[in-house]
Amino acid sequence: MDQATVVDVFIVGAGFSGLGAAIRLTREGFDDLVVVDRGRDVGGTWRDNTYPGAACDVPSHLYSYSFALNPDWSRAFSPQSEIFEYIRGVAAESGVLDKIRFGVEVLSAEYDEGRERWAVHTSDGDFDARVLISAAGVLCEPKMPEIEGISDFSGDVFHTARWDHSIPLAGRRVAVIGTGASAIQVVPSIASEVGHLDVYQRTAPWVLPRIDRHYPRLERSLYKKVPGLQRLVRGLQYVSREFQVVGLTRTRAALAPIRALGRAQLLRQVRDRDLRRKLTPRFEIGCKRILLSNTWYPALSRANVDVITDPIARVASEGVVTADGLEHPADVLVVATGFHVTDSPAFERIRGVDGRSLAEKWESDGMEAYKGTTVAGYPNMFVLIGPATGLGHSSMIYMIESQLNYVADAMRTMRERGLRTVDVRESVQDAYNEELRAGTADTVWVAGCQSWYLDDKGNAPAVWPDFTFSFRNQTREFDLSAYRRTAEEDAPGATDRGTVAVAGHGSVTR
Ligand code: NAP
Repeated sequence: MDQATVVDVFIVGAGFSGLGAAIRLTREGFDDLVVVDRGRDVGGTWRDNTYPGAACDVPSHLYSYSFALNPDWSRAFSPQSEIFEYIRGVAAESGVLDKIRFGVEVLSAEYDEGRERWAVHTSDGDFDARVLISAAGVLCEPKMPEIEGISDFSGDVFHTARWDHSIPLAGRRVAVIGTGASAIQVVPSIASEVGHLDVYQRTAPWVLPRIDRHYPRLERSLYKKVPGLQRLVRGLQYVSREFQVVGLTRTRAALAPIRALGRAQLLRQVRDRDLRRKLTPRFEIGCKRILLSNTWYPALSRANVDVITDPIARVASEGVVTADGLEHPADVLVVATGFHVTDSPAFERIRGVDGRSLAEKWESDGMEAYKGTTVAGYPNMFVLIGPATGLGHSSMIYMIESQLNYVADAMRTMRERGLRTVDVRESVQDAYNEELRAGTADTVWVAGCQSWYLDDKGNAPAVWPDFTFSFRNQTREFDLSAYRRTAEEDAPGATDRGTVAVAGHGSVTR
């Protein structure tokens, strides 16, 4: 590590979570930090997902940093370009841009037990950091489907998160694989332009109306001029979304109104009985992310669009072959099959005290953390949007900011008490996760459907199974007693809690 750049905090990723961490920690006085991002700009998933129709399905007043509300949102659900501009604007105003290195990929991050530091190897040199913050994102590693022959397709193939804008679609035969949140935005946006569109549906999703509207200039100026108005609207949006949690986690009966709304929309928008039968969801609403669209069913009802429900057998050189033996010709294949979540390649690159990668640990023990943020055996590491923090119903930025409260308080606590390292106790982490699993057992996510919330054992380690305010409460303060820690020699913290000296490690508290 002779050539390594020494830094206090190393942050991986400059999306909403990594940028938020850089801003928050700088404000708390931890400004010796470096952020790296493999992309060329901030924004993470909002930089990468440029597919036609990309937009957020959480209202924009709620889907913003609490410290950077934007009175100028043009509409209730902003398009990707506006969210991307928002995060770029926040980054520019925050003063942390000069701490971010773009086009830099983390190759590995290994905890050096002897030095109690993180050795981070990147495509632009090595770093030696006290604290590692993984803000690499969750919905960022495109998952290509394992379909025989797909690599031999003679036309163009691309994933929604890597949209190739150089490929013309007008008048051509396009196939879209998948009917999740990305596909339902792409399909209505391209259906009128393409010659023919085949939509390959494995599972019919629940689709509710999208109650979107343009914000007139008067309303936007009121948000600027009337103190508290925007926060009030944001608060109401927050509370109304939190009501869904009752149905998702506690009483299925509470889902009845939205189930009825979904059925009514299907009945109203799809007159063709055969098509309606194909599009009728056969699983409990909420088990997969509930989709919002007013244009999905009308797009699928168009004369130039076919919904194909026969399973895909293979991809041939000039089209898609379904299990019934039919070949459906296509010029362009759009893959809308989601992301690696519980099996992200990012996990392979981080190694803790025993040299085990997070991927190996989570493969054998399940994807588990403590309060979604710290992992036993990975001292001084904080994972943003870690295990059991994912949401389908509300804003991930709320969860990220809750985690940032916890991380900031951890850093303050370490500073005040003279601690070199904190490492969550395995027993505390296990008990926490046992409780989480018990809390998830009756939720809708494990009600029998397949989704990215689940791992290959059928557990739902990616999703937060409760009201989001209970996560906010859990993460309000850093609970030092849950952690093993080592203290600086002679630090006040060392004597406070009965520490023992350990050769080469400062001292360790058990
Ligand atoms: P996704 O929700 O994981 O959906 C993937 C789709 O591809 C599903 O319909 C799935 O079918 C299908 N699929 C996967 N493998 C397949 C295969 N081998 N053959 C045929 N079909 C296959 O992915 P996504 O739509 O990209 O969305 C991921 C997440 O990103 C969302 O849940 C959401 O959290 C976020 N997102 C948000 C927005 C927004 O805010 N508006 C927009 C886009 C994405 P099955 O259902 O049968 O598995």
